Formats: sequence, structure tokens, C-alpha cells
Amino acid sequence: MPHDDPDHPHALLPPDPALRVKALETILTRKGLVDPAALDAIIDMYQSRIGPRNGAQVVARAWVDADFRARLLSNPMPLLRDLGFYGRQGEHMVVVENTPQTHNMVVCTLCSCYPWPLLGIPPGWYKSDAYRARAVREPRKVLAEFGVELPAGTAVRVWDSTAEIRYLVLPMRPEGTDGLGVDALADLVSRDSMIGTGLPARPEAA
Ligand code: FE
Repeated sequence: MPHDDPDHPHALLPPDPALRVKALETILTRKGLVDPAALDAIIDMYQSRIGPRNGAQVVARAWVDADFRARLLSNPMPLLRDLGFYGRQGEHMVVVENTPQTHNMVVCTLCSCYPWPLLGIPPGWYKSDAYRARAVREPRKVLAEFGVELPAGTAVRVWDSTAEIRYLVLPMRPEGTDGLGVDALADLVSRDSMIGTGLPARPEAA
């Protein structure tokens, strides 16, 4: 079923939403009501800063609390519901844990399914045809382009999101973070590290 079919379970917006948005933006800009640069800044804020903060809090807490981590990995929904990180596009979350043996990476090959309550709105590249096709075909090459170089012994596992199941990557806690609390740890957790196309920042770099 095509993605722009309004009856498709992934469909969330009217047909041609991008076109409608663009048309609105054009009208508002022509009338001098909005500044396109300001719009870009707001979009960036939701994509990369405000949006993913919920997910970062969850990851940081899993790093410091072994019981929370175990529950998050085995049965995350009661936990996420209690935290309020629940809702449309996040009803059925699965959390996959990175280890020295396995690096996890998330894609939606069909369209752009994404855990909104935890990560906000998906970045443009996540929705791109190139990422959707290549993440499955040549994940290591895609990771290298994101600046992620994994040890040769680390396998890459790619998870294909669906309308039913959304994935969150639990990245490995960086070294040198022993004394840090949850909030300081959460600051190290980037959006991309929870999609699997990035790694958490090291404390000195944050
Ligand atoms: Fe999708």
C-alpha cells in the first residue's frame, strides 16, 4: 500500500502535506509574516533539541538504574506510560541495547515511522529514500557517513520500524561518566545515538 494513501496505517497527514506546508510557508513569507530562517531554527529545535530530550532522560536513567534498565528492555510500555512518554507513534515501543558485540540502528523502510513521544519529529534524512534504502543494504557505510566507526568485531543490527512497533536504541554509556547524575548524562545523549546513527558524546566534548 502506498505511503500517501490516506487509508494506509502509516498515513497521518492529508495527501501532499509537504506541498500544503510549502504553499503556506510561501504565502506567509510573501506577506512578510514569517522569516524562513526563523522557521528553520524552530524546526531544528524540535528535531534535535526539545524533541529528543524525553528519550535522553530515559537512556540516562537506564545507565544509572539497573532495575529501570532491565524493565525498559523487557517491558518498556508500563514504564514509559508512567513517565508520560506515551502517545501517538509511541504506543508500542521496543528498546534495543547496544553492546560491544552489537550496534543497533533504526530505519523505517516503508515510510518514516518514528517514536515521537521519545524523540520528537523525525529529521529530514530519516525520511529520505536514500537512508531508507541504504540503512538496510549497507548499514556500515551509512554509519561511516554519520561519523560512526565501529570496531570490526561489532555486528550491526538494523531494525525496521512499522506502524505497530517503534524502536529506541539504548546506547552504551560513555567512559569517564562515573560521577555524573542523570541530567548531566542526558546531556550526552544525542538524538542520533537513540536512532543508532550516532554515539553519545563523551563528557569532555559535551
Ligand atoms: Fe513508516
